[in-house]
This record gives sequence, structure tokens and C-alpha cells, in this order.
Amino acid sequence: MKEGLVIDREAQMIGVYLFENKKVYRGIPRKKVLKKTKIYAGDYVSGTVVDDKTFAIEDVKERKNFLVRPPVANVDKVIVVMAIKMPEFDNFLLDNLLVVYEHFDTDPVVVFNKIDLLDETEVKELEKWSQIYSQAGYRVIKVSAVKNEGIQQLTDYLEGSIAVLAGPSGVGKSSILSRLVGVQLETREVSEKTERGRHTTTGVRLFPFGENSFIGDTPGFSSVDALYFVDKKDVRLYFREFLRYNCKFPDCTHTREPDCQVREAVRKGEVSCERYRNYLKIIKEDLSLLPENCQ
Ligand code: GDP
Ligand code: ZN
Repeated sequence: MKEGLVIDREAQMIGVYLFENKKVYRGIPRKKVLKKTKIYAGDYVSGTVVDDKTFAIEDVKERKNFLVRPPVANVDKVIVVMAIKMPEFDNFLLDNLLVVYEHFDTDPVVVFNKIDLLDETEVKELEKWSQIYSQAGYRVIKVSAVKNEGIQQLTDYLEGSIAVLAGPSGVGKSSILSRLVGVQLETREVSEKTERGRHTTTGVRLFPFGENSFIGDTPGFSSVDALYFVDKKDVRLYFREFLRYNCKFPDCTHTREPDCQVREAVRKGEVSCERYRNYLKIIKEDLSLLPENCQ
């Protein structure tokens, strides 16, 4: 049995990337697999090579997670792209996205793109936000897709993983995708046209790049209200830095409970006021709960 990854799923077409030789085959589900649940991009499969174009899928591995938009299984990392300007940074949007992607059991990485546009004051702002998100426990990568800066760092960080891009429109997601995937993207698009004629692709495709890394060609959420996916009482679980603290009550909502260690950490400046404020906003709590040092 050989191991592969479904990188293309559209109607009856299943593209399987074989790890052994990095070639893409047309996947044909065998009987046992046919009866099972659907196959998605991101599914790890095993099976046998039938000929130089065809791979018989005999088993689909259990999924570690499944993203709904785009529909991709086994997503390791979500690249949440933001800019300081063009478009202006929106930390409330970022925190909503982080909550949702934590909820889907992915590891979000925060990418600040368009750093080439920033003047001195804006660079300071970038540094401030980078520090806030690093302190919260996120990997922060500063990028300029236009100048090809930070792209290698991002490539290294994504090595061996399945990733998708998310973030507001105009922030540079497709520019980053082209940088990551480079020439392979164009090659793929060309062969796509000749192979499929005028049929337009609606499904998600994962592009192989770097060392066994894969990235989705369809972006994830550009904006989202975290409560659409997450119960209000669970939001506290998706602010990573809160998990470092042991409050008196294990189900502490970090709002009005006595001996709340998270609130204590906000007072001491260990947890940022900005993050805590957005936590309160997401769970629709009263902002007068903000400790004095955050007012
Ligand atoms: P998307 O909507 O998130 O996919 O954003 P695009 O990749 O389409 O980029 C939107 C616009 O921003 C385009 O005009 C890009 O040329 C521009 N852009 C993308 N990345 C950068 C960058 O790093 N620096 C600058 N100055 N412009 C960029
Ligand atoms: Zn608490």
C-alpha cells in the first residue's frame, strides 16, 4: 500500500498526490471506500498505483479536523493574513478569526503583510501588535508579498503541513499564495485548462510547495462572528493565553468570579488589555468589566 494525499476534489474527480514520487494521480475509490463518507481535499489515503495515471484508493485515514470554508480535511495551519494599513488593521476581526480557527483545532499563524507600506509610526504599531500576539502564544510573521520579504520564513514555518489562507479581502492572500507556490501555480493552471477545457473549477485544490507542504487555493473566512461557530461559554477556551491560568473555578468565565487569575494577569499586563477587551466583546459582556489599567 502506498500513501497519498487528496489535493483536488471536484465532482467525480479526485486528485491524489503520491508522497513516494510527488506525482498526481486520478484517484478511484475502491468498493469499501465508496460506501464510506465523502472524500475531501486534505484526506490522507492509502492504496495502489494501477497505472501511471490512476491510483486505487483503498483506505481513507480518520480526519483530525475538517474546515467548512474551504472544505479541507486535516488542516494543520491557518495563515491569518492582516495588514496594518490597506486595509487598516482590525484586531477584533483577527481575534474572531483566531477563536474560530482554534475551535476547528488548527494552529493559526498571524501574518502581517504589506510591511513595505509602513512609515516609522506605523512600524511601531506593527511592533506593538506583533508583541501582543506573540505574547498570546501565536507565531507572528511579517511579510511583504510584493518585495518577497518574509516568504522564506513563512515557507519554513509551514513545512510538512496542510495550510489555508484567511483574512479580509485586499490584504494580499492571493499574492502570498503565488509567492509560496511560485512557478508551480502557473504550470498547474495551464495544465488545468488543457485537461478540462472550459469547465470551471469550483472545488478546493491544495498546491504542493516546499518540502511536502500544501496550501489551499480557496481562502477561508474573510470575516466571521465567532459565536456563529462557538458557544459563548466555550470562547474562553480559544483565547490561548487564558489557558495558562488556574482560576478558582475551573469553568471561570473570567468576568465576575472571585480569584480570577486571568483578570489578575490583565491587571499585571501579562494578558493584553486589547485581547481581553475583545474577549468581552465577543461574549457580549459589559466593557465596564475592564480593569482600571485597561480603561
Ligand atoms: P487578497 O484579496 O487578500 O487575495 O489580496 P491580493 O493578493 O489580491 O492583493 C490586493 C492588493 O494588494 C493587490 O493590488 C496587491 O498587489 C497588493 N499587495 C499584496 N501584497 C502586497 C504587499 O506586500 N505590499 C504591497 N504594497 N501591496 C501588496
Ligand atoms: Zn478566571
